[in-house]
Amino acid sequence: MAKHGFKAIQALDKAYVLHTYARANVAFVKGKGARLQDTQGKDYIDFGSGIGVASLGHSPKALQKALKKSAKTLIHTSNLYYIEPQAKLAARLVEYYKRGSSDKAQWRVFFGNSGAEANECAIKIARKFGEKSGRYKIITLDSSFHGRTIATLKATGQDKFHKHFAPFPDGFVRAKNLADIPNKIDSQTIAVLLELVQGEGGINALDKKQVQDLAKILKEQNILLIIDEVQSGIYRSGEIFASKVYGIEPDVITMAKGLAGGVPIGACMTRLVDVFESGDHGSTFGGNFLSTNAGLAVLKTLEKMRKDKVLDVAIKYFHTKLDSVLKQYPAIFSKRVGLGLMCGLQVRNGEILTQIISVCLQHRVLVLRSGGDVLRFLPPLNITKGEIDEGFVRLIHALKELKIPQKPKNTK
Ligand SMILES: *Cc1c(COP(=O)(O)O)cnc(C)c1O
Repeated sequence: MAKHGFKAIQALDKAYVLHTYARANVAFVKGKGARLQDTQGKDYIDFGSGIGVASLGHSPKALQKALKKSAKTLIHTSNLYYIEPQAKLAARLVEYYKRGSSDKAQWRVFFGNSGAEANECAIKIARKFGEKSGRYKIITLDSSFHGRTIATLKATGQDKFHKHFAPFPDGFVRAKNLADIPNKIDSQTIAVLLELVQGEGGINALDKKQVQDLAKILKEQNILLIIDEVQSGIYRSGEIFASKVYGIEPDVITMAKGLAGGVPIGACMTRLVDVFESGDHGSTFGGNFLSTNAGLAVLKTLEKMRKDKVLDVAIKYFHTKLDSVLKQYPAIFSKRVGLGLMCGLQVRNGEILTQIISVCLQHRVLVLRSGGDVLRFLPPLNITKGEIDEGFVRLIHALKELKIPQKPKNTK
């Protein structure tokens, strides 16, 4: 299957691709469902789905069909012209978001190609919304992650990403946690930008009541609430958006990762439909036939899984499995964290997290890290019981092999 063996691929990558990633020593050549096959023909269970992107698993039939259709008819025409699947995808996102909610506002969507771009769009909406009143500051949280562009990096509440890249744009204010946000509000505050479950910052699911209380305060002060659902969105929480699980009505929701099953896409959805006028924002590739046809296929499949409760069953089963690992290895893990199939196990001693992930790779199960001490799981949303079982058998085998330091540093 692979034209080159692993060593050749690695050599080519090292020679010609910029070294921005600390890659694991493996290259995959094909996949089916939650399974991947490497260059040596070994199979893996994928509990990471390409960082929450392959929401329907690898090479799903529905996506193949949508992509084939696009390839045969149209892939791209640009936003100079109307694009039917883009309009349809926008309509579905709004319809599914508003289902069962009291939110009477009209919502509209802008399409880009990534999470960072979705957040850039949200930032621009907030800036323009605040222009007349002279408000421009956006409050974000410690341990948040909002992207790698200069503005979204500044919004990201992790200093380690900021080294080397100054100066950053003004107008981003950091709060320690939800309770600290009101302290940071001043007469120039225009928005608060949050992940409801911090994806890179330790699968930290914010407290529902606290989020609802904050939403109320913001509404009273005419400050926008922007929810970054790049990772938590598109059914990862069990609902189309985690905002629905939290029972809040944000002003802007951004999304990307799982929306088109692996085809690059990002979207910014808002009730502020009149802020942008033509010319205020744009994207060459955003919302083209290929990505929005893919998005339509993904949404259709996932919405059906939600309706049929298949998604709830998978979530419950995955949590049961995580809880049993927790029970079996109390010396390694302290608790289960997260929401839906955006979940994790908190590791008592963060220093062994890298070892856990690499031993898991040797045992052919792919898992992720989040923050300094969380083993993160973002399995395909249509993962089968058999795939879950097999992945956990491998995970247990891996954990048996771990060399745990005698005195864990951190025993919270
Ligand atoms: C991944 C992620 C981003 C950035 O998305 P890109 O597609 O890499 O630009 C932004 N916010 C959150 C919450 C994410 O998980």
